[in-house]
Amino acid sequence: MREKKFETKVIHSGYDSKQFSGSLVPPIYQTSTFAFDNAKQGAARFSGEEAGYIYSRLGNPTVTVLEERMAVLEGAEKALAFGSGMAAVSAVLFSLVKNGSHILCSQGVYGCTFGLLELMEEKFGITHDFSAMETSEQVEALISPETACIYVETPINPTMKLVDLEMVATVARKKGVPVVVDNTFCSPYLQNPIVLGCDIVVHSATKYICGHGDVIAGIAAGSSEMMERIARTTQKDIGGVISPFDAWLLLRGLKTLPVRMDRHSDNAEKLAEFLLGHPMVEKVFYPGDPSSGDFQLAQKQMRKPGGLISFNVKGTKETAQRFMDELQMIKIAVSLGDAETLIQHPATMTHAVVPEESRMKMGITDNLLRLSVGLESWEDIREDLDAAFKSI
Ligand SMILES: *Cc1c(COP(=O)(O)O)cnc(C)c1O
Repeated sequence: MREKKFETKVIHSGYDSKQFSGSLVPPIYQTSTFAFDNAKQGAARFSGEEAGYIYSRLGNPTVTVLEERMAVLEGAEKALAFGSGMAAVSAVLFSLVKNGSHILCSQGVYGCTFGLLELMEEKFGITHDFSAMETSEQVEALISPETACIYVETPINPTMKLVDLEMVATVARKKGVPVVVDNTFCSPYLQNPIVLGCDIVVHSATKYICGHGDVIAGIAAGSSEMMERIARTTQKDIGGVISPFDAWLLLRGLKTLPVRMDRHSDNAEKLAEFLLGHPMVEKVFYPGDPSSGDFQLAQKQMRKPGGLISFNVKGTKETAQRFMDELQMIKIAVSLGDAETLIQHPATMTHAVVPEESRMKMGITDNLLRLSVGLESWEDIREDLDAAFKSI
């Protein structure tokens, strides 16, 4: 039989209503623990001789549906759900490293991931390097025998620069180093790093996967072997698991993922065009811009350029802040991927923890703003932006 399309998988995969009294929607198993039939069964569950649920930090049926669906959507053997994106990132990184390990990172990562890398260095001597990863030579040059993984964000937050995932995966395979990709900005609809040869995908499911701004959650996906190891160690023993209700909300959000991503992307395309032609805008960072150096790569590895646009307002930090304050409909908020259009100032918000020198190297200047284009009418978003430009 022909493999089902993505738009179908987001609705059906990982769930068989027949196993749940015909319930069309997966039930919420709002329980912390599971009663065994008898002592022998309890012992068999713990020893692994018998499959089945034990305790919701180790597994929960609602969460299992989400995990199976996410694995299918990312083309992975197995996925795990977490209580936040950072819980997923930290569970993956801590499972890959040991004392004295090294992590090679794309030039620019999510602010708290940067914080985690610093913490790992300070407490455990796990070092890291940042690389622009523009060529395979650049990547290879920074891999050492201690390199435990290559950690990539693409598009890079918030400068929207892309990294060629196939290129990184090829170098990494030659060196026997696993590649972890933070796929938050794309969601599995726009980009599938595992299909492109990478090993592990992490998501802040708080963003596009949820899509409605009402859940904090994370996902990791990869081979069964790696995911089972994480489930038995850094997920179980550090314990950043998702609640059954939040898993249920993500399952609900996922059903409309392709519809939403199409609208986010189409709106962003229109708004990028507007920003590119605006006299108050110095520079636009958007992989769908045909004059951007990443346009070809975006065409190659992403289904669409996505819903995020960063831009420099002509002027200073104060000009950028004044511009934000003049917006009427667009909300000043971190996070992204919601129905509402959000704007934030990376230098003082998401990337405030990054020291100024590193921030400048990442291209996060004081007049840079990041816009998460929502699902409203693009004309209403444009009008709000235009009016704010006129009043600064
Ligand atoms: C938000 C975000 C995270 C962290 O996710 P949380 O759900 O907030 O813990 C990690 N990476 C990227 C790219 C993000 O945008």
